[in-house]
Amino acid sequence: MRYFLFKGLPNILRSVGAKICGQRFVDRVERMITWICFSTNPLIQILYCFLAGGGFYIYVKIGFNRFIPGPYVDNYHKTTGTIIMIICYISFIFASWTNPGVIKKTNVKDAIRRFDYDGILFKKGEECRTCKIPKPARSKHCSMCNVCVQKFDHHCIWLNRCVGYYNYRYFLIFIFSHAVICTYGAVIGCLIFYGIIEEQNLFKAQFKNLKTGESISPSLYIVCRWLFDQETPFAFVTILCIVMSFMLTLFFLYHLYMATSGTTTNERSKRSDFSYYFETKVEYLEEWKANFEKFEVKDVDKKKFALDEKWTKQQIDQQIKQCNEKVEGLSKNFYEKDKWVALREIFYPN
Ligand SMILES: [Zn+2]
Ligand SMILES: [Zn+2]
Repeated sequence: MRYFLFKGLPNILRSVGAKICGQRFVDRVERMITWICFSTNPLIQILYCFLAGGGFYIYVKIGFNRFIPGPYVDNYHKTTGTIIMIICYISFIFASWTNPGVIKKTNVKDAIRRFDYDGILFKKGEECRTCKIPKPARSKHCSMCNVCVQKFDHHCIWLNRCVGYYNYRYFLIFIFSHAVICTYGAVIGCLIFYGIIEEQNLFKAQFKNLKTGESISPSLYIVCRWLFDQETPFAFVTILCIVMSFMLTLFFLYHLYMATSGTTTNERSKRSDFSYYFETKVEYLEEWKANFEKFEVKDVDKKKFALDEKWTKQQIDQQIKQCNEKVEGLSKNFYEKDKWVALREIFYPN
């Protein structure tokens, strides 16, 4: 799935785009996407301000002024909605301005002391090729920020910053508060529209097709379309809230699961890449063992899987055993601890 999303799909889009608009256009679009998504720039932060600020402005201008209080929505929602939105903005500022735990020569020793090396994902004695400093366990070099980060989770384009040891707590609050405000906005928006339907008795009204002039009996689709036409900006924000509430809630639950399991996005992806590598190597070695005489070790495989053509059947068996041990080691999480201890460490990093 990950391979399809990041390799297969872009390749399909590239070849389709080149056929329709030409290779030069595709190259230009690709350069622009790389600049927006894979270099540090504030464009996506501006987009966030536009979406979060604009969405709330429409809510205040239309929702607060015209529909609240309404038949199903009390006046106090103006205050609670505003407070949650302020929490969202504050969490955004904290998450994007807090140093995620950039590793420098001056703090690398402390960073190394923080976590033990598991010997599989993180090996002692390795050095970052760019920063030329030792790699602490659970750290990673971010190619966008061009720094090594302690307990690296991922680089967030919305925050224009890495999410790591010191700002993961704010990142969790950031996605949680946004999941809450979107769900809140979605529920209030639906209640407001439900109030309009009831007040105007829309399911008993007669609608007219303006082009043909024929009258239409009201269905859920017709009523929703009519409401969308009448209250387009507010309906648009409500739909956006409904979609985003599902996405953000799932995203938050995924991160909460990882936080309580004592792992990170980087470690999960590394673990699955390594497992795939060793499992493929085992398949390859098994095939070699079964067709020992006929099997040809190609140069690419030799390099990729560190194979030696001179290996005997016994040595192949030894290799299979080692790979299987690695896969078993990868199935366990070296950094797993009690859920509450893991959460405490995230919210009170020392
Ligand atoms: Zn580095
Ligand atoms: Zn980064």
